[in-house]
Amino acid sequence: IRDMADDEATQATNNDASECKRSAVQLGYWTDNFINFFVKQPSRKAPEINRGYYARVKGIEVFIDKFIKITGGNGQIINLGAGFDTLYWKLKDAGNIPINFVELDFPNITAKKCYHIKKHKQLIDRLNTEDGEIRFSTTDLHAANYHLVGADLRHLSDLANKLKQAEVNFSLPTLFLAECVLVYIDSSATSLLLKYLAEIFSNSVFINYEQVNMKDKFGQVMLSNLRSRGCMLAGVQDCESLESQQRRFTINGWKSSCAWTMVDIYDSLPATDKLRIEHIEMLDERELLIQLLQHYCISIAWNGNTFKNFSTI
Ligand code: SAM
Repeated sequence: IRDMADDEATQATNNDASECKRSAVQLGYWTDNFINFFVKQPSRKAPEINRGYYARVKGIEVFIDKFIKITGGNGQIINLGAGFDTLYWKLKDAGNIPINFVELDFPNITAKKCYHIKKHKQLIDRLNTEDGEIRFSTTDLHAANYHLVGADLRHLSDLANKLKQAEVNFSLPTLFLAECVLVYIDSSATSLLLKYLAEIFSNSVFINYEQVNMKDKFGQVMLSNLRSRGCMLAGVQDCESLESQQRRFTINGWKSSCAWTMVDIYDSLPATDKLRIEHIEMLDERELLIQLLQHYCISIAWNGNTFKNFSTI
């Protein structure tokens, strides 16, 4: 029962992420013409949260753009724990859709996402279909190059089966995205997942966004300043430092990896963009933003030669 309650709390983090993104989009931090189909009511968040989300979304976007450029559109993207992410639709409107795009999450979440997609013409009309056919079940959706499938990432046979149904090609250059996901999965299950992916996708790159620097100077895990919504942060020990983030990949079959705190990622964003967003809302205590950014990171890991130049920001 405790496990089920934890899973439900973990799934609820998707609401939080989507609401925060909706809040920042509403205020003009970045453009997302699709998030409002998944989150109806905008709820205002604190300025430092909006800025933190801006850094998260833009920081990840830099690497996604890199992947699209390097592969010339001939790759595939697999979003692990995708929640209500709108990346597929944003890439579609930008004319940057890769050969295949797969989203995985718990069946409870993919069922809700299926419902929203079915309900909104603006979403469903953008799914490519060769013969006009889109196959739906309660939890899964299959179009020509977009597949939304329900699976528990801790169960590899389940995952393997769903990847097959999503028509994944194991030899294509592949980008994995895990945005605030692995921290909810215990360390040993994450290890098995990363090992499995490294083995079957020999030419791939992994973008991971999540918590870091989780221990204070006494070695205690600090949860007070992180908004974990009462969830068990099962993978918290991997979030100790940038080194542990990188090591998690290299000990599990990935050739190399790099990691930056969100302070570095934020600093690396174009100056004009930062100037623009810093004028959207006043931030009384800049220190609050720095503290928040210090506790999140982006790590990149890769296999195969295609992605060896991924490690710069
Ligand atoms: N990646 C999305 C984003 O950033 O907007 C959603 C982030 S939300 C904080 C975490 C997501 O990971 C949730 O949708 C949750 O259901 C999913 N997740 C966590 N553990 C999972 C697991 N074992 N299997 C599948 N999905 C999982």
